[in-house]
Amino acid sequence: MEEEILRIYNNFSINNLDTFFDELISYVNKYDSIFLKYTSLEYLDAIKKLDSKNLILGHSDDNFEIAIPFYMNQINKGLNEEELSNQVASLIWDLSAYMTDEECPSCHDSNLRLTITASKTSQIIKFCDECLYTGINGKRVDIEDDLIPASKSIVKSYLKD
Ligand SMILES: [Zn+2]
Repeated sequence: MEEEILRIYNNFSINNLDTFFDELISYVNKYDSIFLKYTSLEYLDAIKKLDSKNLILGHSDDNFEIAIPFYMNQINKGLNEEELSNQVASLIWDLSAYMTDEECPSCHDSNLRLTITASKTSQIIKFCDECLYTGINGKRVDIEDDLIPASKSIVKSYLKD
């Protein structure tokens, strides 16, 4: 499991995020029984179906050229199965959850990302990575479901309005 993710990370190129992302998703599919220990089935099923073709990748303030070597270093120092699963899941999130220019109204520490619920409505929910704020149409709401990245078509329709 470790050698394989290191190989994927080693092939990272900022100019080819699509291939990199799809390799991460294939990795989750291959080791889904391990990921399932640390996430809900509904969330995992949604993540396993993510496809670079249907997403806008890399639109955030994350610097992946710094993050990937840092992640590789963490693995080389020794991560357990849960830490490794969480690292991959958070990388998938950072790559694919579209970050808007809108600052979080609650903590002001991060910009809001566009997400939908894993149960697949097209209702856009804005989400803050820092304080876990969730909002619909500018109002704070409590969401019970797991959130997944909004698809390219949902992001595009949001940007048009
Ligand atoms: Zn916040």
